[in-house]
Amino acid sequence: MNRALLATPRSTRQRVVHALLELWRRLRPPVFSPGMGPVDLNFCVHAEAVAQETTFEALLALVGWFRRTAGVRAVVGVTTPRCPQTARLMATVGTEETTFAGRVKRIADEADLAYHGHFFDTISVDDRAMVAERERFSAGPMRALWEPDLVPIGPRTLLGREAVVRAQMLEELAWFAEKGFKVTAYTAGWWFLPPVVVKTLEANGVVIDCSLRFDGRNTFGGTTLAQPPPPGLPVRVPPATHLVSLPNLVGATVSPLRVVPKMTALAQLAHHAPRVGLLHFHDYDLPAFRREVEAHVSCWSSYPDVFRWMPLEAMAAQEPEAVW
Ligand SMILES: [Zn+2]
Repeated sequence: MNRALLATPRSTRQRVVHALLELWRRLRPPVFSPGMGPVDLNFCVHAEAVAQETTFEALLALVGWFRRTAGVRAVVGVTTPRCPQTARLMATVGTEETTFAGRVKRIADEADLAYHGHFFDTISVDDRAMVAERERFSAGPMRALWEPDLVPIGPRTLLGREAVVRAQMLEELAWFAEKGFKVTAYTAGWWFLPPVVVKTLEANGVVIDCSLRFDGRNTFGGTTLAQPPPPGLPVRVPPATHLVSLPNLVGATVSPLRVVPKMTALAQLAHHAPRVGLLHFHDYDLPAFRREVEAHVSCWSSYPDVFRWMPLEAMAAQEPEAVW
């Protein structure tokens, strides 16, 4: 596997579009009326490429810069060496487990550490139906690691594999504990939060979940929710009894200008009750999209009455609006 595949390259077109949008934002800044807000924000990073040194260094630099700039720790969910995809990446790029654990420690020094779950089963390469099923998953640069015999577990492949998911989760949560990391937050890969994941998180000390998209398809694996949850409010999802799920707002790899309508709508709702929201991105997108992520910090920080950077724990402190 080509090591360069693990980081999305930044194209000239991206560079030009970003520069033009930033110029436009400076000339015609978005306007928020008095009385809008407050909306509490933070970043939630999905980190799958800690094994790869350049991606790790980019992530560490970004979250350190964010902590110093905004005065708040970002949330970084990581997969562990006991996730089959991560184990294969470590073998491919030659990263030992002690090095990996050392990197996670450095992330935890700068950010709030969370668990990022991507679950897999081993299949026979002759199982054409399962091999075809694998094609449905979006995986970015990680897809090559699945060849020839790993299949992701998601909404359509979960049936009969709940025990596989639970076993992998217990192994990964044990890895955090063995290495001395206390992990109390979770963020789902593929926005996949079926009941077996909720129950295993709750039984193992995880109290905050960052896997909710109030306007996204496929939330909860498409299996649990009949309707989308309310925008910008913490909720409790079935069958949770105490796990608090926080909503994601937008992917931070697009320019802030492109999400102004969405942020305005949320800021208007916040006039009645404070709203919360996470901005998400994958670590392997960072080398290409660092400028977009930084632009979100500079944009929303210019409206301190409307948008506030907030630690994860404070965002989850609000009593969930509804059992959804
Ligand atoms: Zn992921």
